[in-house]
Amino acid sequence: MTTTADGLLYLLRAEPTLLPPAPDTDVAAAIDRRRYDEVHPCLRCGSLAHCALVAHTEIGNRWVDLCILCTEWLRANANT
Ligand SMILES: [Zn+2]
Repeated sequence: MTTTADGLLYLLRAEPTLLPPAPDTDVAAAIDRRRYDEVHPCLRCGSLAHCALVAHTEIGNRWVDLCILCTEWLRANANT
């Protein structure tokens, strides 16, 4: 997937059903479980995801699984 960080965030906001549903309660514990106990591919590059971010969308919380490099890329490049 080649897109800008803002483009990726825009897509996720527009199409939150692309993301798996995340819990609304006990989010911190759920993030640790997802990062350490489960295996998910990075949403952007397909590598093993080491970071689980929670996107607050209009249909509820959704997981954004990213590897370390893509997490740094998102933090460095997202303007919104
Ligand atoms: Zn990645």
